Amino acid sequence: MKIWNSSRSPWWKGNIHAHTLLSDGDQFPEIVTQVYKDLGYHFLCLTDHNKCQTGENWITPETNPFAQRGGGLGVVELYRQKLGRDWVEQRIDDEGNIEVRLKSLAEFRGLFEEKNRFLLLEGVEITQSDPSIHINAYNVQSPIEPIRASSVEETIRQNVEAVNKTSRNLGRPTLAQLNHPNFRNATTAEGIAPVENLELIEVYNGFRGAVNFGSEDGVLEVGRVWDIVLTKRIAELGLGLVYATGVDDTHNYETSDSDVGRPGRGWICVSCSSLSSETIIDSIRKGHFYASNGVSINSISVDASHYTISVEAEAGVDYRIRFIGTRKGYDPSSEPFRQPDSQIVTGRTRIYSSDIGEVLAEYEGHEARYEFQGDELYVRAEVLSSRLKSNYSSEGEIERAWMQPVIPGQLA
Ligand SMILES: [Zn+2]
Ligand SMILES: [Zn+2]
Repeated sequence: MKIWNSSRSPWWKGNIHAHTLLSDGDQFPEIVTQVYKDLGYHFLCLTDHNKCQTGENWITPETNPFAQRGGGLGVVELYRQKLGRDWVEQRIDDEGNIEVRLKSLAEFRGLFEEKNRFLLLEGVEITQSDPSIHINAYNVQSPIEPIRASSVEETIRQNVEAVNKTSRNLGRPTLAQLNHPNFRNATTAEGIAPVENLELIEVYNGFRGAVNFGSEDGVLEVGRVWDIVLTKRIAELGLGLVYATGVDDTHNYETSDSDVGRPGRGWICVSCSSLSSETIIDSIRKGHFYASNGVSINSISVDASHYTISVEAEAGVDYRIRFIGTRKGYDPSSEPFRQPDSQIVTGRTRIYSSDIGEVLAEYEGHEARYEFQGDELYVRAEVLSSRLKSNYSSEGEIERAWMQPVIPGQLA
């Protein structure tokens, strides 16, 4: 990110991680899209597991476990009710079950998209288990085969490279994101940091099980993992910044009997002059956005000497603004996480000194300005509110916003 002032462009709010009946979400893609449009979002990316919203796909609501979770034939009733009888395409299979066709994005996007009001981005969640390393690919039109390599680091690198290769082949910008780094302990800061081509990670994912804020058995808050990754990249590896998003990873919608992944938990607001796949991708790539699970930001400005933030304050809510970073000369030592009996726990990020991701300054109130001291490797900002989030991914979480890191020395 270079010198930047968000006030020059509007904010566009979007969710870039959501599932539909094409994989394990429990509603039809059009219903999911309508939910986000009704919530006032400006863009949405449907990111089903290893499937794009293309081609011919049918589901059997009476036997499909995800449709069952959403209400069985009730999902078809809702679909018919919202989209109209003529829109729904169904047939009967050999056993007498109703099958319903999932329409492609090309077929339904025209119902929802409006210039500078609502946009559907094309995407997919490149998914594999053991370890559960999931990479979202944005602005791609066909699925990308997941690649399993010998290590966490190499697996992330090769899947990101597969997305970048798609960009070169299609001649259009794409983005790759490492999803929910803590999910099933799939990744560690040490595995993420050396991936040269990595640009994005999820600092907040609304799916219960994403463990955004860490756990007692040595899983670190993703924000802390991010600080370790940033510090290693800049100080030790000579690599660039990684930016962080907030997403819903939605699986459950209005009629669902589950609330594991509901809409409205995490999102990004992107600053750009107009709303298109290209402008959104370009602004995310530049770091012109913030992540949130509840706090709205009025403006962000970064120049050669200051990082300034203004929160869109709500009545009755208190705010703390923290500037976080690592200074040159930090203590880089680390040790493994151990159980109380001193057994090393594998698959955990190592424990580093508090020099990494230090709180450089903290302010009460809805506006703050941080003056660079000249010895910071990077500086990022977080806003913490006094309000508990009711639609939470982890019990007891508060509403926050995460701003992107900058390297003060590169802002001349
Ligand atoms: Zn995932
Ligand atoms: Zn997902």
